[in-house]
Formats: sequence, C-alpha cells, structure tokens
Amino acid sequence: MTTTDLGLDEIHALAHAALSAAGADEANADAVATTVTNAERDRAISHGLFRIPGYVTTLKSGKVNGSADPRPENTTPVVLRCDGQNGHAPLALARCMGPLAEAARQYGVAVLSLTRSHHFAALWPETEALACQGLVGLTCVSYMPMVAPAGGKTALFGTNPFSFSWPRPGHNPFVFDMATAAMAKGEVEIAARDGHKVPLGTGLDAAGELTTDPAEIAKGVLLPFGGHKGSALAMMVELLAGPLVGETFSFQTQERDNGDGGPAQGGQFVLAMSPDILSGKDWAAQAEKFYEKLSAMDGVRLPGSRRHRNRGDAGKRAVNTVLVEKIQALGKGS
Ligand code: NDP
Repeated sequence: MTTTDLGLDEIHALAHAALSAAGADEANADAVATTVTNAERDRAISHGLFRIPGYVTTLKSGKVNGSADPRPENTTPVVLRCDGQNGHAPLALARCMGPLAEAARQYGVAVLSLTRSHHFAALWPETEALACQGLVGLTCVSYMPMVAPAGGKTALFGTNPFSFSWPRPGHNPFVFDMATAAMAKGEVEIAARDGHKVPLGTGLDAAGELTTDPAEIAKGVLLPFGGHKGSALAMMVELLAGPLVGETFSFQTQERDNGDGGPAQGGQFVLAMSPDILSGKDWAAQAEKFYEKLSAMDGVRLPGSRRHRNRGDAGKRAVNTVLVEKIQALGKGS
C-alpha cells in the first residue's frame, strides 16, 4: 500500500475541504473534521479519513443536514435530550457533553438522549471527555443490521459498539471502546482493501459458512464476539440506543435509510456518573490499587493505552494515498 505523510493540521484541512464542498456549514465541517483528525492522531484509522467519503455521500444525497444546529434541552435536571436535526453526530455531541457533565457533577448522574443523529465515528471521544472531567462514562449506538444473533445466519444487530470510561486523576483515563461484533465493519473493510485475512469467527459468507476472507464476509454477515454473551450485549445496545432514547432498532433504521452507504439516522445513549457524589472521597485511590495490580501482570495492558501512546506522537501520519487523492478530489467538488 502506498501512503502519503500528512500532519494533523493537513488531515483536518483535507477533511474540512471535502465536507465544505459537499455542503456542510462551518460548524458541522469543523466538528466532523476534528473528530476524524483526533482518530488519525490516535491511529484509530478505521474512524479517521477513511470515513470522509461516507460522510460526504450523505451530504450529497441530502440524507444528512449539513446546516444542523442541534442544542441540548433539559427534560429534567438530569435528563438532557438533543434533537440532532439529522446532522452528523459530532456537532451535537460537542454541544451536549459539557451540559451533561455539569448535570452529573451537580446531581451525581445524568443521561443524554440523542436522536435524529448520524454517528459514523468511534465512541471513545464521548466517554473520554467525561472521564477528563472526573466522571464515569458509558455510551452506545446501534446502526443497521450487519451482525447475526448467536445461533443465527441473518443480520439483525448493528455492530453496536459501546464505550466505558473511568477517570484517573494524574493519569490518562481508563477507556474501552468496542464493537459487539467480533470485528468492526470498518476493520473488515480495511482488511479486504489491504488483502489481509481475518480470524475465523469474524463472520459468515453468503452461504452461511465460516470464512477468514473479509471480502466474502462483506457479502454475508458478521458474528457477535463471544457467541451468546456478545449477542446479549448487542441486544442491550439495541434497546438503550433505540427505544430508551426514542429512536429505532437497527432493522428499522435500515428500513428508512436511503441506502447511500453513509451513516444512517439513529440514536445515542450517554450516561455520566460522578464518583465524588456516588462514592465519597476515596474512590480514586481505591481504583489505583486495582490498576496497579493489573499493570503489574505480564502480558496485560489497559484498554485505551495504545491510543494514548499514539497520541503522544505529534508527527505526520501515513495515510493511504488512494484515499488521500479521493478526498482531495471531493474537496474540489467532484
Ligand atoms: P478493538 O477490538 O480494536 O478494541 C476494543 C477495545 O479493546 C479498545 O478499547 C482497545 O484499546 C482494547 N484493546 C485492544 N487490544 C487490547 C489488548 N490486547 N489488551 C487490552 N485492551 C485491548 O475495537 P473494535 O474493532 O471492536 O471497534 C473499533 C472502533 O469502531 C470503536 O472505536 C467503535 O466505537 C467503533 N465503531 C463504531 C460504530 C458506529 O456505528 N459509530 C460501529 C462499530 C464500531 P486500544 O484502542 O488502546 O487498542
């Protein structure tokens, strides 16, 4: 694979130009470009520039409103609702996370119910933002059917990721962020593009047989991780990001989607909890004893530590050249 070295400011500019050319206003183009740049910064490439053609597709098809102006509203002091106005999720989230954190700090717990939003990113930005403000965070989104329930061969669940964070004063927060599919769809697409095999158990081909070929899985279905256990977690995500917040299940999301291949309209559930209020003063020191034991074990690393280590490198990122040229062309309005 040929790559092009780009600095983080160049990555932001590349993404911003493509989004603007497709009709996003300044606030929306900047919010999405920032999310994409932060993913490239952490070398979470399946949610970096790789996503820009999909974001652009939805602006061009008219499915996504590039001028959405979402604002959080309090339903109760601890429940915030936000109508995403059919925009891409980053702007709504950028505007909601501060008020959500403030409510959790004041009352101990707060929930955000985001609807009519198009999420196409990783979830760690939301939970990490809460942990950086001393809060425990949990969030999830569903998508469109791509994953068969355990025992089945037909897709019903989205790849349904969820993310959890824990604040660690004086350290990077503890953050995990994972699809309930054995592998996220973007990772499977990148493996197919780059000609790599994937582990057996990632998905089934169109005939319902296990395969290690990501291109064949793309014609079939993904599987949940951990069999019936991952399947149950995927169901939980369907319910939390669907009816609990006032949005659709993945199968209903697909029914109303225009099929343009970009992110579909859906909901997001975000929970923020204050350990200061729920626990008292000693929670951080107690948690550190747990992290010390974990970190002393051979072969064990904390989830999120790979991203945080990558973040420390402010240098250029090697981006697939074909992708860079494609996004440059989008920025010129093609
Ligand atoms: P991974 O399986 O790569 O990683 C899941 C988590 O496990 C990460 O927090 C990762 O931390 C951690 N981890 C990985 N390897 C180890 C290890 N050896 N020891 C300890 N921890 C480890 O993620 P997925 O492929 O499941 O998901 C990728 C992304 O896709 C997520 O950000 C998810 O939100 C996103 N996604 C978004 C969707 C959407 O609709 N918006 C749909 C589906 C997925 P680290 O990052 O430090 O490696």
